[in-house]
Amino acid sequence: MLRDREFLRYGRQMLMPGWGESGQSQLGQKSVAIIGLGGLGVPALANLAGSGIGRLLLVDGDDLSLSNLHRQWIYRAADVGQPKVQLARRWALDLNPGIRVEALAQMADERLLDTLLAEVDLVLDCTDNLASRHLINAACVGHRTALISGAAIGWQGQLQSVLPDGPCFACFCPQEQPVAPQGCREAGVAPPVVSAIGSLQAALALKWLLGEELDGNKVHRFDGHTFEWSRFTLAPNPDCSQCGDHHAPDH
Ligand SMILES: [Zn+2]
Repeated sequence: MLRDREFLRYGRQMLMPGWGESGQSQLGQKSVAIIGLGGLGVPALANLAGSGIGRLLLVDGDDLSLSNLHRQWIYRAADVGQPKVQLARRWALDLNPGIRVEALAQMADERLLDTLLAEVDLVLDCTDNLASRHLINAACVGHRTALISGAAIGWQGQLQSVLPDGPCFACFCPQEQPVAPQGCREAGVAPPVVSAIGSLQAALALKWLLGEELDGNKVHRFDGHTFEWSRFTLAPNPDCSQCGDHHAPDH
């Protein structure tokens, strides 16, 4: 049962078909991990905290730098040098004191992910490097936890929902495949594009948590130059180093 203040706070989203009081109560029972509190994690956090996800677990080991501020809009110039995850936690609780927000001030490693994934319903990968993406993907495949992966570089953005039994991030981007290690430090990043992708990660998360089906076989791409979306179909790779066992014919 929602309280009066919750009806007021969440009323505009509860009006939507398929949401309602029961959907809102459901969201209040969910735990979501947001890994990376940068350009993707900030809008994801704002949307999920605002929407009333019961418990958010935030993971990031970085301190705020001046170069973050053009796209990571919850932080302030006066906070440069402070741990981002603590700043993000405080910001989210100021926005919505009715939820629980926990801050883990470290980079995600295997051990942390193992503990974290035992406690959450869903993971948002908002990191900015391939090594972390593979680590998070492997942990989610192992725990059979749904993962919403977002990425943005320059004017390009990308989204993938990795669902149990579907193709994983490594099916799409094999670990063995040599990839130019390009990040936003080298290639730059357009603030509105990374903000949009982070917000859409939150949209996929809310749909999944409200019980809607997501298409785990598609990768969505946005090109900010042409302003066009494209998507391509992804099949589970039986030889995938991470999820290959799940798709073996005799499994
Ligand atoms: Zn795979």
